[in-house]
Amino acid sequence: METKVSTKTRRNWFRKSKYPTVIAGPCSAETEEQVFETCRSIKANGKVDILRAGIWKPRTRPGSFEGIGIKGLPWMRQMKIETGLPVTVEVAKAGHVEACLEFDIDILWIGARTSVNPFAVQEIAEAVRGVDIPILVKNPINPDLALWMGAVERFERVGIKNIGVIHRGFSNTAEKVYRNRPEWQMAIEFMTQRPELPMICDPSHICGNRHMLKAISQKAVDLNYDGLMIETHRDPDNAWSDAKQQITPNVLVDMITELILRTDHEDDPVTQNSLNFLRQELDQIDNDLINLLGERMSISRKIGQYKKENKMTILQPKRWQDILDTAHERGRKNKLSNHFITQLLKTIHDESIDQQENVM
Ligand code: PEP
Ligand code: MN
Repeated sequence: METKVSTKTRRNWFRKSKYPTVIAGPCSAETEEQVFETCRSIKANGKVDILRAGIWKPRTRPGSFEGIGIKGLPWMRQMKIETGLPVTVEVAKAGHVEACLEFDIDILWIGARTSVNPFAVQEIAEAVRGVDIPILVKNPINPDLALWMGAVERFERVGIKNIGVIHRGFSNTAEKVYRNRPEWQMAIEFMTQRPELPMICDPSHICGNRHMLKAISQKAVDLNYDGLMIETHRDPDNAWSDAKQQITPNVLVDMITELILRTDHEDDPVTQNSLNFLRQELDQIDNDLINLLGERMSISRKIGQYKKENKMTILQPKRWQDILDTAHERGRKNKLSNHFITQLLKTIHDESIDQQENVM
């Protein structure tokens, strides 16, 4: 298990300040001019920490633009040198990793269509074995927490130290509002189980449009995510992929500037959310307990009726002692003290007698 101190330290590789770390750049690298112009404007506007571009694009159907390929990597390296910002690229096979390493790409990310496939993830993991490079793992397209965590573990097992995860939403055919449903509780559960890993939100792929980007980004900030990945293009309408969801560098900077940051460290929404889940479980158990007690009392009343018909006394001390002995033993197995069990049963028993008397 990670300690609290290392939790903080491990997140720090990604998140340098209270502000979320912003990753921006085009969905796809298309041409040298498009990459240069987009990245230069992003840098000039400030607010962005890491540049992104897709070089190999996993497209749903063949025939659309499948990425510029290796030709785009020198463009990213050029932007890294010129802007001084680290660059990140999606890799889906071992060959992609080798090419990225050759062109000094700083961070690799695993796409949603890759993290869904353990064979592909393992192949990439083998390709980075012994390499000191950070990896960001997008959630798989289907809402399977174990699969997402499993992909992360494959990189941990080959010795990758700096790992982060990207929440890009989950595919759902019935979904109309989002391109990929956020299922926030899935990301919250991830953060609860692995608090040492930076969590990045990808509002672009969650929304699939421009108008909801800000609301989703704000929600991620409210949940204390460590970063945002936002597709940014010099001319979004004419982008070769994901045209509907990309924004210009100017719109991006306004959006980031307008995000409202939390000020109260104590009031961590992730902690609050985890607490709320636990509280909901408690409430459910309390409800069940009350329903069960109700059932118990209705049986007591039936017994009262029987005793009345057979002219028996209500209180039968021997039976009460037997109940207590059995309950103490069961209590001990459940880490409940004799005192608590006695008090609880006495209260229940008193009520039971009252209810039986009312039958009399
Ligand atoms: C992307 O970031 O451009 C991309 C292909 O994302 P995802 O893997 O989340 O679909
Ligand atoms: Mn995209």
